[in-house]
This record gives sequence, C-alpha cells and structure tokens, in this order.
Amino acid sequence: MVNILITDEIHKDAVEILKRVGEVEIATNLNKMELKRKIKDIDVIVIRSGTKLTRDILEHAKKLKIIARAGVGVDNIDIQYATEKGIIVVNSPDASSISVAELTMGLMLSAARNIPQATASLKRGEWDRKSFKGVELYGKTLGVIGLGRIGQQVVKRAKAFGMNIVGYDPYISEEVARSLGVKLLSDINELCKVSDFITLHVPLTPKTRHIIGREQISLMKKNVIIINCARGGLIDEKALYEALRNRKIRAAALDVFEEEPPKNNPLLTLDNVIGTPHQGASTEEAQKSAGIIVAEQVVKILRGEPAENIVNLPAIPSEKMGKLKPYMDLAEKLGLMTIQLLDRSIEKVKLIYSGELAKEDTEMVKRSFLIGMLSPILLAGVNLINAPTVAKNRNIKVIEGTISESEYGNAIKVLAEGNSESISLVGSVIEGRPVLREINGYRVDIKPEGIICIIRHIDRPGMIGKVGLLLGDYGINIAGMQVGRKEPGGESIMVLNVDHVIPEDVLEKLKNLENIRDAKVINL
Ligand code: NAD
Repeated sequence: MVNILITDEIHKDAVEILKRVGEVEIATNLNKMELKRKIKDIDVIVIRSGTKLTRDILEHAKKLKIIARAGVGVDNIDIQYATEKGIIVVNSPDASSISVAELTMGLMLSAARNIPQATASLKRGEWDRKSFKGVELYGKTLGVIGLGRIGQQVVKRAKAFGMNIVGYDPYISEEVARSLGVKLLSDINELCKVSDFITLHVPLTPKTRHIIGREQISLMKKNVIIINCARGGLIDEKALYEALRNRKIRAAALDVFEEEPPKNNPLLTLDNVIGTPHQGASTEEAQKSAGIIVAEQVVKILRGEPAENIVNLPAIPSEKMGKLKPYMDLAEKLGLMTIQLLDRSIEKVKLIYSGELAKEDTEMVKRSFLIGMLSPILLAGVNLINAPTVAKNRNIKVIEGTISESEYGNAIKVLAEGNSESISLVGSVIEGRPVLREINGYRVDIKPEGIICIIRHIDRPGMIGKVGLLLGDYGINIAGMQVGRKEPGGESIMVLNVDHVIPEDVLEKLKNLENIRDAKVINL
C-alpha cells in the first residue's frame, strides 16, 4: 500500500484522486518534530507553500518517492537534496495563469480608478466624488514585460478593454507576438517610453532583477501606472518609491514585494500605492486545479507513466543512459551557452552528432540540450519529459542530423538561429567531461563551467593586456584565457574564465575598448 501524507490544505477533489491510489493522511500545521516523525514511513508527500522540506527534514525520509507541490514555487523544497535521494518533485505551474492574469486586470482597473481608496473613504462615511477621479484603460498603451503563460492571458484581456499592446520578451518569436496582436519591441526602454500602463510577467532571474530601475523609470511617460503580479525583485523599490512620491508615476499596484511579508516598506505609506498580499494564485479555481494537477501527476508516476510536471529528474535507470549521460551533460551546457550568447528568440536549432554518438539514440541528448536552452528563461521546470513540448509551444524548430567523421570524435555541433542572428558551437566529451571545442568556427578548448566572458575583437598587439588591465582595475580575477583566430590581424575571439561576476558597467567599458566588437558574459 502506498502511504500518502498531505501537510497543507489542498482541494477535496485532489484528495479523492489520491485516495484511489493509496492510504491518505491529512495532517496540516505540523511542527518540525512531527513532520520528521511522519515523513519516515510515507511514499508521497503533498504540500503547498506552508510546508518546508529542508534537508534536515528530508534526511528522515526512508522511502519517500514523490514530493508533490500544489502550485508553482518550489523554493520551500531542497530540490538538490531530494534529487540526490532519488525523490521526484512535481508541481503545477499552469494552474494559476488565469487567476494571476485576472488579478492583474483587477489591480490595473483599481489603480486607474482609485477603487480601494474610494471604498475606504466611503466606509469612513465620506461622499467624496472629486478626489478619486481616474483614467480609462480604453485607447491606452499597455506595455507587457514577459509574454509567457500569464503575460499572454493578460494581453487577451487587455485587448477586450480596447488597449493597444506593446510587449518586451526577447525570447518570444515575432510570429507568436503577431498572433497575439502585440507589437513586439526589441528594447525594454522603448516599452517604457511609449506605455501608459506597464505590467510585469517575467520570472525573477539574475537578468531580470531590477529590470525596472531608475533608468527605465526616467524614460517613462508622466502619469504611467505600474502593475506587478510577478516577483518583487523585478522593480527597484527605492526608485519606484521616489517616482511615486514625486508623481512621475501616477500609481503602482503591487501583489509582490522585494521582502515578503513587507516590513516597514515605505511604498505602503503612499496613497498612490495599492496592493494585495501575494494573492495572484489565491482563487478557488487555481487552488482546485493546482491540487488536481499534482494529484494526477502522482498517480501517473506511481503507475510508471510519464508525468509532464517533474521539476527534477533523479535516477535515469537504463544502462544506455549511463553511456549517454556525459553527452547529456554536454548538451545541457551547449543549450545554456546558446540562449545566453544569442540572447533572443530562437527559431531553429540544428544538432549534429558525430562519431560513435551518431549511431546512438540521441533523443535524451536533444532533450538535455532543450533543458539548457529553455530553463534560464522560463519559470516552470523544463525536464526530460516536457522539453520537446515546451520547445514546440514556443515555436522552436529542432532538427537532428549526423555525420560519421569529425576531427573532434564524438561531438555535438549546434547551429541556432533567431531574429536573423545565428551561432554555432561544437562540444565534445573528454575523459567523461564536457569540453567546448568551437565557438562560431573559432577553435577553443575550455571547460564549460562557471562565469565565462566571450569577447569578439580585432587581432592587434596588446589586446590581451588591455582586457586584463581593465578587469584587474575592477578586482575581477581571470582564472583562464584563450584566444581563437582564423587569420592573423583578423576578427578573433577571447574566452576568459573569471572568478567574479562582471558588472554591467564594467562590461560596457570592455565593449568600448578600441578594437573590441562585442563582449558577453555567460553563466554555466
Ligand atoms: P513563463 O515562464 O510562462 O513566462 C515567462 C516569460 O518571460 C517567457 O515568455 C520568457 O521568454 C520571458 N522572459 C524571460 N526572461 C526575460 C527577460 N529578461 N526579459 C523579458 N522577458 C523575459 O512564466 P509565467 O507562468 O507567465 O509567470 C510569470 C511570472 O508570474 C513569474 O515571475 C511568476 O513567478 C509569477 N507568478 C506570480 C504569482 C502570484 O501569485 N502573484 C503566481 C504565479 C506566477
């Protein structure tokens, strides 16, 4: 008999589904000691955000196979440790998109018409019809940052209000934007300049942190309204506070904050800020659907069927996988490099396998490549099961090919194209470890690990010294360096392994050095 423990409240229909496959115990509000005791003998645990499955809790699990998180965020689970222990983690990323989109519209209307402030005034016994004059949505330009699941739902609803929509999402194709009726802008600053309302729907990553900062706010129209139902860290709250105080920004409607719950957050002292306590997914329907989706995932896994929403993928059993594993690792690194180097919507990817690898079934290698390429830009886990579907949903064409001979032996060549730019990479496996052998036809020999800076430059005496000096001035240590060139005096590349993150302003200085064409930092 399968023992299933539910430690946060989930919808009764989800409980019914679970009861069909095992013995279900519901025990909410457990303290750490109780949870450690109970987790010992169970096969499946179903949680929401309330239960924290840290390492010291999971250490007590003796036969746990599945952690099911009803909802999206998995930051309350030690995924790495769960993976080490062979525990599968599933979630339900799709369940809340409509609810969040509806809250976004609700907050947009509330901010435009001062509904919360007017309600409070009415309840104070006032009848003030002047102070709360608002603005219409009709005919206004809405800037949508991030056109994924939620962003797209917001677009559909905003169109019904007669808004013109512009979008910023460098990883979405023109075609998808066109089908949504969104004018895709290639620069976030452009979106800030033209929008009357701005709404954010991107995941919080090192790249999107403070995506709305002082510079973006300075470019905005006076009286713009900002809505954030995504993640707090996306907006620089200090800069937002100043702009709201001096009425450059008319109003902000926030469901999320840099620190949650907010402690003495000055934004909440302003009369032109309205908000909700991270309630985007708090609807009957989203919670029902989150529960049902994870319950169905649990049933599928227990029956040995493929499940779509696996966040991690622990043991890959077959022997064959063992042989392919180093190539899967290499492919994932190549995918990570591809998205970071192209940094735009990718329309087509060609993967060419050579040597012995060309004779193998490379499906899992392809899927690993897609995981690397898609994970940095998407909120939900991309895994070996759902990777091809996620790629297809984003209109990415993936082609595989083989060549029997390559100077690198068993190797993977990647050719990726998007928005009229392309990139090529070649990687191989040496002594079981991935090695990058070519970037855009330039030979290199580097371990795809850590922080790497790739510089395109003209081959001139002293270039290496100039770069080293500049980075040294900012305390950035170079751990390794390689130069690749096709001919003396021509265009070349420099690849640096660095020990520290290169800040944006230093990267700009690097790009401005004489004879440097471009510089990019990637994280592997
Ligand atoms: P998604 O993964 O479906 O879509 C994210 C989109 O952002 C993708 O289209 C991606 O291409 C784009 N993107 C990635 N990096 C970008 C960048 N640097 N610039 C511009 N676009 C970029 O995610 P989703 O399900 O739509 O979720 C969007 C946000 O909503 C996330 O931040 C998520 O945490 C948040 N969320 C909030 C609540 C809530 O309760 N308020 C609930 C669910 C989700």
